[in-house]
Amino acid sequence: REAEFAALRDTPAVTLDGQRITLLTNAGLAVDLENLDAVGAEGIGLFRTEFQFMVSDELPRLDSQTALYRRVLDTAGRRPVTFRTLDIGGDKVLPYLETEREENPALGRRAVRLGLDRPGLLRLQLRALLTAAAGRELRVMFPMIATVDEFRHARELVDVECAWARRRGRALPDLLRVGAMIECPSLLWHLDALLPLTDFVSVGTNDLFQYMFAADRTNPLVADRYDPLSPPALRALAEIQRRCADTGTPVSVCGELAGRPLEAFALLTLGFTRLSAPAGGVGPVKRMILSADLGAARRGMANLLGSSSASVRGELESLARKLNV
Ligand code: PEP
Ligand code: MG
Repeated sequence: REAEFAALRDTPAVTLDGQRITLLTNAGLAVDLENLDAVGAEGIGLFRTEFQFMVSDELPRLDSQTALYRRVLDTAGRRPVTFRTLDIGGDKVLPYLETEREENPALGRRAVRLGLDRPGLLRLQLRALLTAAAGRELRVMFPMIATVDEFRHARELVDVECAWARRRGRALPDLLRVGAMIECPSLLWHLDALLPLTDFVSVGTNDLFQYMFAADRTNPLVADRYDPLSPPALRALAEIQRRCADTGTPVSVCGELAGRPLEAFALLTLGFTRLSAPAGGVGPVKRMILSADLGAARRGMANLLGSSSASVRGELESLARKLNV
């Protein structure tokens, strides 16, 4: 298997019916960068910046944040990198950062909520990103956006930092793209307001489904109780894809889902063309892509979306088998 995936490393991800898929990988530490070449990903669709903070004994200073981001961009070269700003708080506690104890950490002041309440922290990180990406492209996105205003405020902080750098005559990125993660279900009903404000979005299915099904993704008693290959989850994804297509907003999927072949097959049949998978999933998903005829699969998927079952995994497996995927 490993040898088979390695042989596909430089093969472009194109489906049997000619649809080009962009296959990216998720990363978070400098060591993950080796995976880019090893698995043949086309870029980093999700760089989890909190990992540097979690392995550090103290708040990483501006220069060490900048150094890491610069190294990531240097290694990626011409391949795109999407940095996600700090996703801490909740269960990801940093011993050196004082935060209140919360009864429900997953529903607490995590991610961009903490960043907006303590803008000094977020601004420092944005400054590091802007500095590291001076003269090249910077793609940055915010986690756990639940309202349009949160995105607006986060984006304003990017503008504030750009203005700060400009006043000091510092070089800025040539191209700046600011996006939102879609991982809070509330946004599903406000995409019309959100999408015009974003340059791109990325669907975080791990959290999106945790919140949709009210099931802690880390709790084994409930984590497997609900299947992402279920009509409600698939319809949510279909809706996001449709809205993004209508508005011409680039969209990717960066949850663990994108790294599993059957789930990734479902995403492609829903119309997604940009996936960011954990490194181990890139090879298996690429092999699936090369054998998929999406035209035929789409008609099958349309029927599954209308199913009254709690899971359509079995039906999707049969469909994939019938189509020799
Ligand atoms: C997600 O929620 O799907 C996601 C990609 O982010 P994380 O797993 O880091 O919460
Ligand atoms: Mg998430």
